Amino acid sequence: MTISRRSFISGIVAGSAAAGAAFASDRANAAGLCSIPTKWDQTWDVIVIGAGGAGFAAGITAKEAGAKTVVLEKMPFPGGNTMVSGGGLNAAVEADYKAAGVEDSPQLHAKQTLAAGDYRADPELVRMLAEGAPKSVEWLKKIGVHFRPGIYQIYGGLWPRCRNPEGQSGSDYIKACVQYAKKISLDVKTGHKVTRIIRQEPNAGRVLGVEVEIDGKKENWRAMKGVVAAAGGYAANAQMCAFFDPRLEKLNTTNQPCSTGEVLRSIQDINGLAVGMDYIQCIPWTAPGYKNVADVFQAIEYTIFVNKEGKRYVAEDNRRDVIRDATLAQTDQTVYQVTDVVGFEENNKFYNEMNHAALKNGTLFAADTIEELAKKVKLPPEVLKKTVEEYNAMVDSKKDPLGRTAKMLSHKIAKAPFYIGPFGMCRHHTMGGARIDAKARVLDREGKVIAGLYAAGEVTGGIHGTNRVGGNAIADIFTFGRIAGKSAAEG
Ligand SMILES: Cc1cc2nc3c(=O)[nH]c(=O)nc-3n(C[C@H](O)[C@H](O)[C@H](O)COP(=O)(O)OP(=O)(O)OC[C@H]3O[C@@H](n4cnc5c(N)ncnc54)[C@H](O)[C@@H]3O)c2cc1C
Repeated sequence: MTISRRSFISGIVAGSAAAGAAFASDRANAAGLCSIPTKWDQTWDVIVIGAGGAGFAAGITAKEAGAKTVVLEKMPFPGGNTMVSGGGLNAAVEADYKAAGVEDSPQLHAKQTLAAGDYRADPELVRMLAEGAPKSVEWLKKIGVHFRPGIYQIYGGLWPRCRNPEGQSGSDYIKACVQYAKKISLDVKTGHKVTRIIRQEPNAGRVLGVEVEIDGKKENWRAMKGVVAAAGGYAANAQMCAFFDPRLEKLNTTNQPCSTGEVLRSIQDINGLAVGMDYIQCIPWTAPGYKNVADVFQAIEYTIFVNKEGKRYVAEDNRRDVIRDATLAQTDQTVYQVTDVVGFEENNKFYNEMNHAALKNGTLFAADTIEELAKKVKLPPEVLKKTVEEYNAMVDSKKDPLGRTAKMLSHKIAKAPFYIGPFGMCRHHTMGGARIDAKARVLDREGKVIAGLYAAGEVTGGIHGTNRVGGNAIADIFTFGRIAGKSAAEG
């Protein structure tokens, strides 16, 4: 969806506490936002907006709690970003960390998540995320997801507590959700775009339902118990991101085109509070001017990043925001991932097809020596050779002047063939969004609950703080999706 700069700015203003209730009320009245339909086209107990991971978790939970539930999805197919995600899920599951010989607990998970988000996240929501994640793993198994054995430290994950479904990607979650939804007769309607959330008054009263666009025609659907917003983030909306962080406008995105943020703006239109809108995460993906990318950085212990000068410029196991800022400061905002055959094979456990395609489409190169490798992408061969030698020496000394942790100084780049591929920063995840409480109820600008409105997943804010830990989004969507579905069914 494209939005005009004017309407978007008015959306931001309406969402700001300084704007005051009167202004929002006038604007909402002027835009017809508070008009209550004279007739409802359909009536449900619970209406869920969005058929990604959070929406399915909410819909399934509400339906199983006995509520007449529908999930509305604007795209012709369900899945959202959840479907294209790597599927990495952080959870301190006792049996898993004990089997891996890793020290862990939900308390440690919460502590690290709070610190990684610079303490801007709500500690209660973070506690719920960490304690709820192992239960989400169980819930996913119950609906038919099979996990690969073992845990690892995902890129930006900061600790080895991540697992993936057998098929290695988020499509496993969506396949299981779709099948389970069929089994319990949960209605999931694709091609249904929510264009407005209907509240009794713009600043007061209950949320009554939604306006939904089907084949260009608008209808009003009533939700007797609650509306759950699970419409994902806004990283595909370059303009919306650029208003909050102008550096990001020209970057590519990893997101599906559906991540445009209009449901979040509808929440703001009815006085919902949005927080952390300028916390926008980037990750390594297609370099500026490229259409494809290789991914040999998920298993980060096997990979180093170098700039066009052939030098490392950041600790590769650092926080995602630190890597974003460091990468955006490099020549042409283009850098390179370097690994050897061992790292290539390890990363291919996640991105096998993509990496083999990358070898053909000019986004990954292989060579038997580091000097030859450098020549393939026009880096200074002697400098790259020295960089790799220095890095290998750090694996022995366990000390990196850039601060890579000893745990991640575990594998030398030593076994030919060697691999190199360009990458840049892409808009990936929006940490900001609708502020919720512990029952996933959306709060207004005075911090009061908006009755009848719940939210879960990337559309929310306040769970990750300034920087989302890799693997925590999948934990978030299934944990808070289940909470929102339960709360909505209770009305
Ligand atoms: C390439 C990629 C890889 C990732 N890998 C990982 C990973 O390994 N681990 C991890 O933790 N996180 C990962 N993430 C992040 C994670 O996948 C997302 O944060 C998460 O899936 C969001 O889930 P969601 O349910 O909130 O939103 P989504 O899954 O995006 O679903 C939202 C749905 O709402 C629909 N929608 C939007 N607006 C409307 C509307 N107006 N009306 C009706 N429907 C609407 C959308 O079409 C979409 O289907 C990755 C993201 C990407 C893009």
